[in-house]
Amino acid sequence: MKDFDVCVIGSGAGGGPIAWEAARAGRSVVVLEKGPWFDERDFYKDEVACNHRRVFRSDYKTEPQVIEEPGADGQWSALPTSDPNSGHDYWNGNCVGGSSNFMSGHFFRMKPDDLRLLSTFGPIAGANIADWPIGYEHLEPYYTKVETEVGISGRVVPHRFLEPRSTPDFPYAPTTEHLFSQWVDKAAAEMGYTPLTVARAILTRPRDERRPCEYSGFCGSFGCSSGAKGSARAALLNRAVATGNCEVRPQAHVYRIETGADGRATGVLYYDRDGQAQRVDAKAFVVACQAIESSRLLLLSSGPRHPHGLGNNHGQVGRNLIFSAGATGAGHVLLQDYDEETVRRMKLLGPFVNRGLQDFYFVDDPALGGRAKGGTIDFVGNSPSFIHRAMPERRDQNGELVWGREFKRRLESVFWNNRVLRFEVFCDWLPNDDCHVALDPDVKDKWGLPVSRVRIGHHPHDDRVSQYLVDRARPVMERMGFRNVIANINGAPTPNLQAGGCRFGTDPATSVLDADCRMHDCENVYVSDGSFMPSGGSVPFTWTIYANAFRVADRLIASL
Ligand SMILES: Cc1cc2nc3c(=O)[nH]c(=O)nc-3n(C[C@H](O)[C@H](O)[C@H](O)COP(=O)(O)OP(=O)(O)OC[C@H]3O[C@@H](n4cnc5c(N)ncnc54)[C@H](O)[C@@H]3O)c2cc1C
Repeated sequence: MKDFDVCVIGSGAGGGPIAWEAARAGRSVVVLEKGPWFDERDFYKDEVACNHRRVFRSDYKTEPQVIEEPGADGQWSALPTSDPNSGHDYWNGNCVGGSSNFMSGHFFRMKPDDLRLLSTFGPIAGANIADWPIGYEHLEPYYTKVETEVGISGRVVPHRFLEPRSTPDFPYAPTTEHLFSQWVDKAAAEMGYTPLTVARAILTRPRDERRPCEYSGFCGSFGCSSGAKGSARAALLNRAVATGNCEVRPQAHVYRIETGADGRATGVLYYDRDGQAQRVDAKAFVVACQAIESSRLLLLSSGPRHPHGLGNNHGQVGRNLIFSAGATGAGHVLLQDYDEETVRRMKLLGPFVNRGLQDFYFVDDPALGGRAKGGTIDFVGNSPSFIHRAMPERRDQNGELVWGREFKRRLESVFWNNRVLRFEVFCDWLPNDDCHVALDPDVKDKWGLPVSRVRIGHHPHDDRVSQYLVDRARPVMERMGFRNVIANINGAPTPNLQAGGCRFGTDPATSVLDADCRMHDCENVYVSDGSFMPSGGSVPFTWTIYANAFRVADRLIASL
């Protein structure tokens, strides 16, 4: 007799759909989550706490990761994130619902050709491009399911690269829009482009216990205090628990999946909130710790039939890690150039801009070598966070710190004289041999476990595509009247958008998971976060992670 039918490890976008679907199908489920269980009352808008004291993220001093980056001389150097000279880490949300609590919820589907990149666009030297073992048609019903189950607001705007849909429009009307949305519409239309209403995982009318958006403006990087944001916690886990079939165990840090002599997983070991080792067993196990930590957990889980880590008999676990490539840019307008009413509307910080362009998603342009993948341009309003708005002003265009009178002048401009519109461009992060996760041989976390060692190599092609998109975004910004439009393409990964490391595919020699995201070499273990993705598309990943996790849930329940 097993303790549970299903044990889900990690409670974010990859884990939530499994717990909800299995619980509502009458299966007994336990969700083991490393972080605490917060709810709407805990999600205050304290910028210092949320952004600088990391109250909702793992402590990089006691739970470091080791980051390997190339230097100017091309040599790799490694630094643990606990080192004061380290700039970034890859922990996002450490609580029930994971980083889905803190996302901005800009939601995009991938397109059919995103799933067959290799066969459509051919190989690129130095990149491990692969087609997916499933087609868009297998994912489409689940994209639609996410619209209702998680709650997505938006409006379908037809355009030549619109992905096929089985329903005419979103179940929730778009969020309230900022004045700049109209500016994007006008400028883009004048330039012959199709401005899109960007879908958001944000409710615009109540659903169950969740209130609709209250437009505080503190959205991305902050937990949602109304429940409008479609976190795995608010949208799925609360409902899973309400069935009576699902138990969520917070502060349960899983450190090993045990396997028996026959190669099947038999149980999971975790440290509870008191640091005591505990064990739970189940018929099936689902790993969803976010890509980097999922690979780490599998590598930590060696067993009699898996001497190099679970699922790693062909050395594939941790390989082909991907992020979202692209760039960020911004420009500003001077308030003195506009009338009082326009300035009043510009100053509103709650309504969303929610505009994007996908006119360059696929291109045929000699600048990119002919027929090629382009990407998405997403226009984003300024954050109301004082710290977010002030931080970019502390360095000049050469990266030097700005002091004294000049710094004060810059702050005055940002808060009193200007309004800023930002844009983000998204394109494929090409998988390559220099982007992967391994276990660090020396550095241990507070439990004495080897930490993730993450090598961050990006392909130069990503920069070319990013530049191509920036060159198309900038004229739109300028047409709207924004000045000093600058963009930053530095090849740096997006810590909050991570995927790959446990590719799915048909060949066990080159993939970790089969088409159902079940391990090739361990039949009762699935991976349901973004780890399965051979490519990420030119969009943020989370709608795809949610959709695929719903698909995996169906397969898993059928297998039980
Ligand atoms: C500030 C921010 C903005 C974002 N904006 C967007 C956006 O606009 N659009 C978009 O598409 N995406 C966005 N994202 C990304 C989105 O949040 C992630 O893609 C998504 O949540 C990933 O789902 P996941 O299940 O892989 O990881 P998570 O949702 O992070 O869940 C993983 C969970 O596993 C837990 N865990 C880790 N290790 C263990 C262990 N050993 N034992 C037990 N539990 C463990 C973690 O604590 C965490 O709760 C954003 C993210 C952030 C942080």
